[in-house]
Amino acid sequence: MFKLPQLPYAKTGLAPFLNEEQMTFHYDKHHKAYIDNLNKFIETDASLKGKSLEEIVLSSTGGIFNNAAQIWNHTFYWFNMAPAGQGAQPSAELSAAITRDFGSLDELKVKFIDGGVKTFGSGWIWLCVDGGGKLSLVSTSNAAVPFTNNGPAPILVADVWEHAYYVDYRNLRAKYLETFWSHVNWKFVSDTFASKKVADLTKSMV
Ligand code: MN
Repeated sequence: MFKLPQLPYAKTGLAPFLNEEQMTFHYDKHHKAYIDNLNKFIETDASLKGKSLEEIVLSSTGGIFNNAAQIWNHTFYWFNMAPAGQGAQPSAELSAAITRDFGSLDELKVKFIDGGVKTFGSGWIWLCVDGGGKLSLVSTSNAAVPFTNNGPAPILVADVWEHAYYVDYRNLRAKYLETFWSHVNWKFVSDTFASKKVADLTKSMV
């Protein structure tokens, strides 16, 4: 069974980027619903008991995958944001990789936002690292994660489902993503980049 992970800041901590009403719908209703749904599957399916969230994501399909992956995606999303001015800077190693693979942090930002805007329907825009340290942008639909089928490990994500921004931004996905960029938790992103591995999020919710 999994618990809703604690936010690493107060529910008002990201305001005015994301205000309390937006956070309350997204975290207390959407994210919690995925947790409740997965726990119902676990109650009735012995093969799921004792598995980490990452193991369930990598081994499931259908409704189990959708709920498990959405728990993983949302937890990562909360952890990779920080209140304005508290997100630190990319590490020297990450900065060098960004310059090598995107030209500059500004160019990465433009491409990340563009990738999020162009993600059709509901989904996620991810910055990922492969085992060799190469960075890439990946857009996924619905609950999908980049790391299935030996794909790269996520180091940064923005939720581009409308439920992530509709309270504060209505239909303005680009404005939401632009403001997201000034709330990135670069310490979390840099640490995840350094590990070159899929983050272990299970420990924050058991
Ligand atoms: Mn969401």
